[in-house]
Amino acid sequence: MITDIWEEFLDIVRQEAGSRVVETWFKAVMLKKWDMDQKVVYLQAPNIFVQNWIASKYMSLMQVNLSRLLHVNELKISFLVGEKDSSDIVGMQGAHLPVAMATKSSSASFSAPSKTGGYISSHYLFENFVVGPSNSLAYAAAQAVAQKPGTLYNPLFIYGDSGLGKTHLLHAIGNNIKQINANAAVLYQTADRFVNEFISAIRFDKVHKFKAKYQSIDVLLIDDIQFISNKEQTQEAFFHIFNTLHEAHKQIVFSSDTVPQDLKGIATRLRSRMAWGLVTDIYIPKIETKIAILKKKAQLNSEVLQDEVAYFIADTVDSNIRELEGALVRVMAFAALTKQPIDINLAKKVLTKKSHENVKPVDFSMIVHSVCKHYNYSLQELQSKSRSKEIALARHIAIFLMKKCTNKSLRDIGLFLGGRDHSTVMHAYSKIEKSIEHDQQLADTVKGIERTIC
Ligand code: ADP
Ligand code: MG
Repeated sequence: MITDIWEEFLDIVRQEAGSRVVETWFKAVMLKKWDMDQKVVYLQAPNIFVQNWIASKYMSLMQVNLSRLLHVNELKISFLVGEKDSSDIVGMQGAHLPVAMATKSSSASFSAPSKTGGYISSHYLFENFVVGPSNSLAYAAAQAVAQKPGTLYNPLFIYGDSGLGKTHLLHAIGNNIKQINANAAVLYQTADRFVNEFISAIRFDKVHKFKAKYQSIDVLLIDDIQFISNKEQTQEAFFHIFNTLHEAHKQIVFSSDTVPQDLKGIATRLRSRMAWGLVTDIYIPKIETKIAILKKKAQLNSEVLQDEVAYFIADTVDSNIRELEGALVRVMAFAALTKQPIDINLAKKVLTKKSHENVKPVDFSMIVHSVCKHYNYSLQELQSKSRSKEIALARHIAIFLMKKCTNKSLRDIGLFLGGRDHSTVMHAYSKIEKSIEHDQQLADTVKGIERTIC
């Protein structure tokens, strides 16, 4: 039965990603249909936020486990959104879905990935990139390059910390060039995929073909070039590709986490070439730009964000824009799931809880130490085979907290606690999880111990 398969799958997600993920996200989704001929699983999601969140984070988990449960080698996953029927089917077959939010009417889509290059995501456009002082130079340079590839800034080198929009701009350049000239051969590739491709070209004696492919394109967008460091042979090959393209006035764009001269493990001649054109940075925006980004993202999802909500989210998340976007998605998804309006109280509830969850790293020994202290047992007793009721309870609480407060696997937990197997650990975890729902005294005990460690 298809529902049994879904239940079985949820158990796996519970083990792999934790019950909270199941309760918050997967419980909102239904396995609607399994098309055995086409090998497509149709999942019904209540709204686009849930769909995007699950697809961006758990696509490979779903593909691996559902294909195993359905006894096929591989399958595709399609989402049905809302109450509608197949007219709303959103094809999302890749495991590489970026964490991008789709508008309600559109779906995640990519220009067809070429066999060898990366895809260009149709979500990342200049139009949905919010410009502020922190990124205006990079944005202007990217636009200039898209308008006149190969003539102005070649190469264009954009650097900055993670999550600040570099990949977005690379894709936006690619999309814009394709809009202007559909025949332009644009290739987006991350540097680590470039390295892997090169390694496999060596293995299969296809280096010549590899170079020919790269040397024949019009626009080369290389993301995260730092990953080419210490790969001397790849750098050598890339050096020649660069020279050929540059001499032919083909546009090259790099992104990186640092300026060319600080790239460690990259040959000087390559570093100097990277700085031949324009080197420009992106840095973390100030609150005004963050608010503008939030409002834009909300608007793209047909939501209007009140000022105080936007301000609260922008103020709470100070790491990068990817996190900012993640926070907004969580707030919107929670509102949609619980059918509540997005207001300041709801945002506080969702995000404050989250930051409380972001506890300092906790390890097994801290947890076990606290449990032992509370019950006055030794570690050996907890690890022993003793089945005495009291020791078993302490052990179960330790398991519960080890699973809750760390991201270690059930297997690791079992090994730490005297070589217990995965199902015993799972059983103990579920037992405590269920018991604390109605046993207030136990819930208080667990909370008390948790407070001493988290
Ligand atoms: P990086 O490549 O620098 O690590 P990304 O380009 O992947 O960062 O950006 C992370 C997320 O933040 C993406 O979803 C992107 O669309 C979004 N983002 C970053 N900067 C902006 C911006 N200025 N306006 C709108 N969205 C942005
Ligand atoms: Mg990136």
